[in-house]
Amino acid sequence: MEELNKKITNCKKCPRLVQFREKIALEKRKQFKNEVYWGKPVPGFGDENAEILIMGLAPAAHGGNRTGRLFTGDRSAEFLFKCLFNSNLANQPSSIHIRDGLKLKNIYITAALKCVPPFDKPNSDELKSCFNFLKKELHYLQNIKTILTLGKIAFDACIKFFQINKAEAKFIHGEEYITETNQRIVACYHPSPRNVNTKRINEKGMVDLLKKIHDLHK
Ligand code: SF4
Repeated sequence: MEELNKKITNCKKCPRLVQFREKIALEKRKQFKNEVYWGKPVPGFGDENAEILIMGLAPAAHGGNRTGRLFTGDRSAEFLFKCLFNSNLANQPSSIHIRDGLKLKNIYITAALKCVPPFDKPNSDELKSCFNFLKKELHYLQNIKTILTLGKIAFDACIKFFQINKAEAKFIHGEEYITETNQRIVACYHPSPRNVNTKRINEKGMVDLLKKIHDLHK
């Protein structure tokens, strides 16, 4: 996995995404203007023997693309890690920077696409190229039984990756779909500030879903 993650970090296969991730890293958000942004592809992290994979679409522009770790340093991470901690799946309720001591329990976190795309919309060639990395990650993560997808675009990417008929797999929060390899894909709202503020998702609902998944693997 270490070798794979090195390859991911050095990848420059998608010119549009390389340009975009570097542009964000140079321009920066005002509140982070004194920081050096990561500005490269962001590999997965967590427990390599995990049974649960959490999959986002891609690193966030000023989250993962800044800190070098997925779901780290932004408000989505704030919500997600509070919930993971309360579900006993993480050792701390926050994910702030890459050396903050965070440890995941029975969880690995990755993204379908390792580089931040403009408007959160990768094109199909970019997704296809990056699926090669996802395939290799899944090869090393041999115990994965459940894949919790965060947000509709991540869910759709996951359905595409596993070649599940789109008409049979609609994005409905909490719904499960089984892959040909007998892995369970679970749809979940993205823990974005917008979804939290509009109460589409709340801490209790998220913790209940995480605990339900956790209980399946006890
Ligand atoms: S999206 Fe994936 S394949 Fe494309 S440059 Fe980034 S790491 Fe490479």
